[in-house]
Amino acid sequence: MTRADELAANLAAVQGRIAAAARAAGRDPSEVELVAVSKTFPAADVVLLRALGQCAFGENRHQDAEPKAAAVAEATGSGEVCWHFLGQLQRNKARAVVRYADVVQSVDRAALLAPLARAAIERGRPLRVLIQVDLDGSDPGRGGALPLDVPSLADAAAGTDGLVLGGVMAVAPRGAEPGAAFAQLRALSERIRGDHPEARTISAGMSQDLEQAIAEGATLVRVGTALFGGRGPKLG
Ligand SMILES: *Cc1c(COP(=O)(O)O)cnc(C)c1O
Repeated sequence: MTRADELAANLAAVQGRIAAAARAAGRDPSEVELVAVSKTFPAADVVLLRALGQCAFGENRHQDAEPKAAAVAEATGSGEVCWHFLGQLQRNKARAVVRYADVVQSVDRAALLAPLARAAIERGRPLRVLIQVDLDGSDPGRGGALPLDVPSLADAAAGTDGLVLGGVMAVAPRGAEPGAAFAQLRALSERIRGDHPEARTISAGMSQDLEQAIAEGATLVRVGTALFGGRGPKLG
């Protein structure tokens, strides 16, 4: 089997899981966007998946994402792929990330807003941002704003020129059954939509728990392993 065949089979399987989960929840499968998380995998895989119709890709480390985005743009033409930045972001990297990222899903503190907005204005195109929520509290290494702080951070993002508030994002806490965490994220999303009705994105669910996330209203799932294969113990 060629790598293209393997990726095609994996993509079809993931699309099938998304469709089945959406139908089971009484939702239309087209309400759920798939972001292919290509971290640790080469630009060549992104190009193959793009040829199979997959447009949105996610990366969590700037130093890997920047050259990969450049290589993909070289191969496919610029603008063919939509990049989502998912990783912890330092203020001094914000401007460089905005050069290739269409969406930053990992906004978790107010100090990121001004540098992201400045970079978006500089490039002449607004940046879509999601507020990353820490549903766990016990693992600060993974980033995310505390649920209590999310509404004010969402207000600040929505009120910043150059940024478009897209919604919320979270990673399910490790070890626990994810349904309750995803339900909490959905409740936060509803609260934010009270003031910002356009901020409809709920980014939740990965290879292992996308069904539970879709059952709790996820509109975007971020899938790595189930599309590309395993990353090894250290790199995830
Ligand atoms: C790596 C990563 C994913 C994908 O995880 P898989 O389990 O490989 O599907 C999703 N979201 C974030 C933030 C990640 O860092």
